Amino acid sequence: MSGLTIQNATIVPMTEERQSFAGYVRVRDGVITEVGSGAPRDSTNGDQLIDGSGCVLLPGLVNAHTHLYQVLLRAVWEDLELMPWLRRIYGCARALRPEHFYTGSLLGCVEAIRGGVTTLCEHNFLNPSPDCAFETVRAIQDSGLRAVFARTIMDTGEIVPDCVKEKPDAAFRHIESLLAKHKSGADLTFMTGPNTPPINTTPELLKEIRRFADAKTIGISAHVAESRSVVECVRQQHGKAGVVELLHQFGLAAPNSIFAHSVHVSKDEIALLKQTGTSVSHNPVSNMMLGDGVAPVVEMLRQGVNVALGTDGAASNHSQDLFDTMKAASLLQKVHHQDAGIIEPYAVLRMATAGGAKALGLSSVCGTIEVGKRADLILVNLDTVHNQPINDIFSQIVHCAKASDVQTVIVNGEVLLKDRVLTRLDDKRILADAKIANHDLMERLELS
Ligand SMILES: [Zn+2]
Repeated sequence: MSGLTIQNATIVPMTEERQSFAGYVRVRDGVITEVGSGAPRDSTNGDQLIDGSGCVLLPGLVNAHTHLYQVLLRAVWEDLELMPWLRRIYGCARALRPEHFYTGSLLGCVEAIRGGVTTLCEHNFLNPSPDCAFETVRAIQDSGLRAVFARTIMDTGEIVPDCVKEKPDAAFRHIESLLAKHKSGADLTFMTGPNTPPINTTPELLKEIRRFADAKTIGISAHVAESRSVVECVRQQHGKAGVVELLHQFGLAAPNSIFAHSVHVSKDEIALLKQTGTSVSHNPVSNMMLGDGVAPVVEMLRQGVNVALGTDGAASNHSQDLFDTMKAASLLQKVHHQDAGIIEPYAVLRMATAGGAKALGLSSVCGTIEVGKRADLILVNLDTVHNQPINDIFSQIVHCAKASDVQTVIVNGEVLLKDRVLTRLDDKRILADAKIANHDLMERLELS
């Protein structure tokens, strides 16, 4: 791959040091080789040149928790709390076919790219047939996005249809076939996990997952303490104070684990998250949509817990927009604490970049603009009426910028979006296919 130079941009590297400067970034073979202020000193002859005038250059955003196919289920069940909502979502397993997963996931990837996401974690939990997971992975790979595919398991639960309840050994064989087909690397890695403990997982499964993940050296993704009803379940059925405490008992709180939501966690459980090095994916829009509650994000950050940001699936968010999610994350903590200064915009932006990369085990790969990291970069046009004039660039990226301001998206040095035009994918065709898939799915669900 030849060289690439992005120049005349305002660089926001998102390292621990809070800084922004006018400069350039050079890329060779998909890796950042130079980050500098002003203009490039050496010749850029032969490089592909991208002019970042009027734009801020950020590390690509990391969506740490989503279910891509759910773009086909936008605004279908939007007035239900978690348990009745989950009953409907799980019930979709009887209607979903592998082609729905491919088509829906590809549309979700297009929305992600257009909104400046370069890495996502697909938390996969509905597999009426093994091809559903394969087709989701195929869509992600076709898109060019960097991804972690977390193939999780359910083995019990009154609201879980039999077609997606799995014996641990059978589920592990399916995951092994995914691992055998795809070479794990920086572009695509795998995780497993209990889907929503304890409402759809037995203690035996939790134990077996720890053993399997260790054997395969893969991480853990789980929905954790999303609503009060889940915590009531863990108290009644397991005599534990909370879901984090239960997972800790089985060794599932660990540095390569990501606990999505973590809304209803106690002070002691926050200490456990810190002590075990477990990361959290905060999904504020989804939490608000389902009326779950407010995750103790400020408390977790103060205790040193790594917090990432996720959209969650479009069935509980309506979109895959991480700019929306950043703004929601900021405002939700302000109103919850009734303190306008409770969270810094830079902290929110770190959650959507470096925090997400760390949560997914990709700290050495992406999440900041630094020499040696993969070139996952986005140019966001701030020269627009809703972004100008700039007084505080970090606040304005979080509170003013929109997904539609994303001009250019680069993953691994490959330009996936150039001046808002997709280079790899045909969004008109993908959208047309998704409409057909949606119609078919609604008929199968008898909702049309
Ligand atoms: Zn989720």
